[in-house]
Amino acid sequence: MMAVADDNQPNSATFAAELRLFVRDFASFAGRKGIAAAIFVALGALLEGLSLILLVPLLAIVIGSALPSGRLARAAAAGFDLFGVESPLGQLTLLLALFGALMIVRAVILYIRDVSVAELQTRFVEGTRLRIAEHLAAAQWDQVVRLRHARITQLMSGDIQRIGSAAFLLLRCIVSAAMLLAQCSLVFLLAPILAGLALGFFTISAIVLLPVIRRAHVFGAIVTGTNLSLLDSTAQFLGGLKLAVSQNLQKSFVIEFRQSVHELTRRQVAFTRKQTNSRLALSTLSAFAGGLLVLVGFGAFQVAPATLITLLLIIARMGGPADQIQHGIQQLAHTLPVYGKIKALERELAAIPRGQSEHADTASLPEGPIVFENVSFLHAADDGDGGSVRGVRNIGLSIEPGAFVGIAGPSGAGKTTFADLVVGLYPPEQGRIAVAGIGLEGAALVAWRDRVGYVSQDPFLFHDTVRRNLAWANAQASEADMWEALELVGADELVRRMELGLETVVGERGTLVSGGERQRIALARAILRKPRLLVLDEATSAIDVASERDILERLRALKPQPTIVIIAHRAESLALCDRVFQFDAGHCV
Ligand code: ADP
Ligand code: MG
Repeated sequence: MMAVADDNQPNSATFAAELRLFVRDFASFAGRKGIAAAIFVALGALLEGLSLILLVPLLAIVIGSALPSGRLARAAAAGFDLFGVESPLGQLTLLLALFGALMIVRAVILYIRDVSVAELQTRFVEGTRLRIAEHLAAAQWDQVVRLRHARITQLMSGDIQRIGSAAFLLLRCIVSAAMLLAQCSLVFLLAPILAGLALGFFTISAIVLLPVIRRAHVFGAIVTGTNLSLLDSTAQFLGGLKLAVSQNLQKSFVIEFRQSVHELTRRQVAFTRKQTNSRLALSTLSAFAGGLLVLVGFGAFQVAPATLITLLLIIARMGGPADQIQHGIQQLAHTLPVYGKIKALERELAAIPRGQSEHADTASLPEGPIVFENVSFLHAADDGDGGSVRGVRNIGLSIEPGAFVGIAGPSGAGKTTFADLVVGLYPPEQGRIAVAGIGLEGAALVAWRDRVGYVSQDPFLFHDTVRRNLAWANAQASEADMWEALELVGADELVRRMELGLETVVGERGTLVSGGERQRIALARAILRKPRLLVLDEATSAIDVASERDILERLRALKPQPTIVIIAHRAESLALCDRVFQFDAGHCV
């Protein structure tokens, strides 16, 4: 279960595909803002080049040598003439003033550049997160429960942040590439042959880097897979914590966990070592190449000293962006497998049919009986279980408004499926469900769900206070409403006794309260909705018989009287019902 994910190792082809996809998505997301950011990136690079080129006449004056002949010298002479400065000091002052002004403009542009780039990055991450959340909320719920929750949790929290860093890395690579381009053109302007040599060097580095990038990509996919299985087993362990501890399974959990972590650590260290090695090799090589360039420039091409010093400066400055590009691409290769996973999840979610999510006019559904006409719904069987009926078949019944109806039958008979259908969680595969003659679909379905209180077989409490758990079903509920609902289900005493009353936290999934207490709070929550239909699916099974009877009797006396459907096994509870439908093997008999 927790093996380091080593299967389906991606190759460089998928990295290229992922990169293309990522760049395309990002570009189409960025749109006009992206173009604006790109302009600022280019302007920043241009100003960097301009300020560097100013160094040539500046240095020529400082070291008292003649300006190298050519376009640059002519431009400088024209500039000095324009301002009428002749003395070296005057020229130096003019150049320094220009240099200073350029620096200020550059600082402003870099500021705007960095802010807009950061904004793009953050918006991209939040946009992706929001899209997944919307897909999740809109998708038909029974399909979503089939997805691994750990996978969604991890993608929505940790992995999405890594997408943020991928966006950052991509943008930084682009910025660095722009800088490098500006610097290369500068070198080209000052000494074309040397620029050719520099270009050759970059090509060689790129070829050397290819296998390193591939390795980073493979490793990135492994890390993502392993993190997921670690999270998955932690979630499973915590989900079954009581069971695990009661049967001493925590030891094997730790052993498995340790093995996976150990393996991951070993790989991480090996990967970092290789990455650092390549970085070291590249920086040694570039120092060497830079020195060689200067030497060649000085010896073979007799470049003027001021130009040579400027070249040296430019070459030294190239180190930064060049390193950021090579490091950035490696990190991108390491991070992008996550993007592939996020896109895969998005595709899966988008393929799930949408449930109803638009809002509807609640008043549009008049009072009337709930009628099932020959309704069938079968769950998709994952295994080849052809024999038994997994759901309900040919159900025909009618429930009058305000009726108190019981549903009975053995486990697996289809009772919960019936309850899910009645509250409109799934559309019937065959037949029709109608309330007051209006079919449960579209706006009517949304209106219906707004009026339903459903306590499922396994009631869910949030890891939050009693108050917030209650308010979740009805944000308008006042404190008095809450106490009234709690009293109705006999939980008022219980909550009063809690150390912090309504502010007591009930624990993950309600584990800090007893099973019966959890059921009572869930019941109170459903009642707070003031539903027209209240469905209780074995919702009082953990409450003692006498209390259960009290609760059911109080529910019966509710004003205005909701329709109540209770699924129960106890004869005592069923005895209170006006009518009992007996279910067996998917049929209502
Ligand atoms: P009951 O509530 O009467 O015990 P259910 O309505 O929950 O029965 O289930 C009826 C049948 O449908 C059972 O055989 C069950 O295994 C199957 N079933 C229920 N939910 C699903 C599901 N989500 N996917 C596949 N099969 C399901
Ligand atoms: Mg059930």
